[in-house]
Amino acid sequence: MSSLFSLEFFPPRDNAAREKLIRSAKQLEPLQPAYVSVTFGAGGSTRTGTADAVSILQDLGYDAAPHLSCIGASRAELRDILLAYKERGVRRLVALRGDLPSGMGGDTGELHYASQLVSFIREATGDWFHIEVAAYPEMHPQARNASADLGYFIEKVQAGANSAITQYFFNPDAYFDFVDRVRARGVTVPIVPGIMPITNGTQLLRFSDMCGAEVPRWIRLRLAEFGDDKASIRAFGEDVVSRLCQNLLDQGAPGLHFYTLNGAESTLAITRNLSLPTAAAA
Ligand code: FAD
Repeated sequence: MSSLFSLEFFPPRDNAAREKLIRSAKQLEPLQPAYVSVTFGAGGSTRTGTADAVSILQDLGYDAAPHLSCIGASRAELRDILLAYKERGVRRLVALRGDLPSGMGGDTGELHYASQLVSFIREATGDWFHIEVAAYPEMHPQARNASADLGYFIEKVQAGANSAITQYFFNPDAYFDFVDRVRARGVTVPIVPGIMPITNGTQLLRFSDMCGAEVPRWIRLRLAEFGDDKASIRAFGEDVVSRLCQNLLDQGAPGLHFYTLNGAESTLAITRNLSLPTAAAA
């Protein structure tokens, strides 16, 4: 695939999950993603988990990019993590503010926004890392308004981010409108749509409400009708998300970033539907 195509995993919590991650990562190899990323639990809950999963994926031959969030962390802690990643040959990071987990009181750490983390990474490690940041076509749920959120996104780029991955969405107009508004401000970094497969209706609705992603009414209605019929949900989801991906690529999105949820099946099915040359072998 010539455009920027990447996959996201989360750190496995036990041996069975570790085996699943390895199996899925191997199954997804034929897609030849530009890189794979590994999420990070804010507050350090999966800090070593992220680093371990990065090592697993590096050993499989992937260019692995850890996510790093600054909320609840000190500059010294962040510097240690950055230097450890540099030592392991990591060249790409996804830099985030993160969300404070419950039980951490009001300790938000020394850096409060992702733009500050991006500046800190540049100060501490120069141009060593390619830095990805998050973008929200449908606005971050805590933002004052859409224009302020867009302004803060641009601050992250001005602080030194090289490209962005979006929160997932099901309405391509939201993405293209966001990209147009960013471009109108003279910002040219690639903004790659984050793609969420639909495999579990209840989970999707709960998570979308939390992170401010809109699930259109027609999709909600269809999911409600399928009830517990997993096969129908999967087939419907693959169809809807494949059409979304095709639409995004046809209209000029620079690539796709798949939230794999550590499974291979949906991402493979969707990319097969897109008739990508590298996916055909999968
Ligand atoms: P920011 O860009 O800092 O924005 C956060 C909020 O603050 C926004 O409402 C913004 O409008 C506002 N803001 C920004 N700058 C300022 C300022 N200077 N003054 C006032 N307000 C400001 N979370 C994890 O914990 N681990 C992960 O691995 C992870 N991976 C993610 C990957 C992607 C692609 C995406 C889209 C999200 C991911 N998240 C992850 C979720 C993310 O951490 C949350 O959405 C978090 O609430 C915001 O992080 P951010 O980096 O977008 O923050």
